[in-house]
Amino acid sequence: MSSDPSKGGVAAADDEIEVSLYASRQKIYPRSVLGLFSKWRWGLVWLTQIVFYGLPWLEWNSRQAVLFDLEARRFYIFNLVLYPQDFIYLTGLLVISALALFLFTAVAGRLWCGYACPQTVYTEIYLWIEKKVEGDRSARMRLDQSPLSLQKFGKKWLKHLLWIAFGLWTGFTFVGYFTPIQELGAAVIQWDLGPWQTFWIVFYGFATYGNAGFMREQVCKYMCPYARFQSAMFDKDTMIVTYDESRGEPRGPRSKKADPRSLGLGACVDCTLCVQVCPTGIDIRKGLQYECIGCGACIDVCDDVMDKVGYPRGLIRYSTQNGVTQGWNTRQMIRRVFRPRVLVYSGILLAITLAVLTSLYLRTPLKVDVIRDRGALARMVEMGRIENVYRLQIMNATEQPQTFNLSVSGLPDIAIVSDQTVSVLPTEVRAVAVTVQVPPQAAGSGSHPIVFDIVSGTDGSVSVSEKSVFIIPR
Ligand code: SF4
Ligand code: SF4
Repeated sequence: MSSDPSKGGVAAADDEIEVSLYASRQKIYPRSVLGLFSKWRWGLVWLTQIVFYGLPWLEWNSRQAVLFDLEARRFYIFNLVLYPQDFIYLTGLLVISALALFLFTAVAGRLWCGYACPQTVYTEIYLWIEKKVEGDRSARMRLDQSPLSLQKFGKKWLKHLLWIAFGLWTGFTFVGYFTPIQELGAAVIQWDLGPWQTFWIVFYGFATYGNAGFMREQVCKYMCPYARFQSAMFDKDTMIVTYDESRGEPRGPRSKKADPRSLGLGACVDCTLCVQVCPTGIDIRKGLQYECIGCGACIDVCDDVMDKVGYPRGLIRYSTQNGVTQGWNTRQMIRRVFRPRVLVYSGILLAITLAVLTSLYLRTPLKVDVIRDRGALARMVEMGRIENVYRLQIMNATEQPQTFNLSVSGLPDIAIVSDQTVSVLPTEVRAVAVTVQVPPQAAGSGSHPIVFDIVSGTDGSVSVSEKSVFIIPR
């Protein structure tokens, strides 16, 4: 700040005040907590991680059950084999995921953030490792404040080693969704990884290490776009973590036997445990804040405190804004779940899900592209017959070898004079040249529509018809 003393008490308009808007991060040491919501969170940690780490090792039809083979441009998802032409299903899946997120956010707030988001899940795992090596909150705080010693160095070294190993394992699993994981594992053992595999394992591993070990709540606060726009999906009937101010205030310590009413106190004993367990370091007693990820840790710890002092549970609880201000019970709040916005989201979600599932069910595991061979123009051959040559790209989207019968129609006596059967290996694309002829008087000069029929040879259960044109020169 600068000022001119000659101007005495008159405020100088051009005085400059320099204020730094940068606040350095205060490290958060979340205290561990036990309770109903913590059990749910750990249940989901186990569930999501068993799926994530286990799925790539699952075999199906003698191959990896879920494999996004970018090099071969095939996505294997159990019985389903998808090709670049099936991109629409991926789009459908993304639309369904986005709508589901809108719906669950409108109904249940940030349940995704608090229980199943990878950032929450990995932070929980990294915190668990940290706690096992360095101890709970107060031990970790003491360790960080203590001067460097052999013991401190050993604990920090072990923690980072475990974090990095876990991160690399996560990176390895991630890459295992794009490269057959058993081959990848063999390549790791033989120290024979390709440059891209190495890059992505290390990149994803260190992203996990950095985000879950160091960035933690900062990812939710500053980097996650969902945290920014989710408030637009909230209304007064959305479930949020609330502190019952009318019951809790005025807060203050008291002896266990004291009657809070005679002391003029509410139910909050101001133990600050709800702040100590919060992974984003906020005080829920100040009201709903965008940093709150709805994890319920403060509910668990406050219920525990209420049990100890002999007060009813639920001073901090999942509720809605209307529920708290109007004093609604659970049934009244549940009734408000079925409000217009929720019904609209549900209707759209249901319609799109049904459309995608129906289209997947009706999907033909055979795709054909017909390309007129521009190199070989229409020409006259023996006995005045007219000949056109086509290139058929036949994609066998099943996992069994298939033989297809080809036929053509659309002009009198039109016929295929090249091979009329084509064998295609499982999940392969085969290009074949097909020669078609018509007699001289079949039609006048010009372009005539024709249709190729491609039928599976074994049972005829799979067939595709593709349009093209037959050119008759002047
Ligand atoms: S845990 Fe409960 S009692 Fe303790 S400070 Fe938080 S709200 Fe008050
Ligand atoms: S305020 Fe409570 S629910 Fe919100 S993030 Fe903190 S501990 Fe979790």
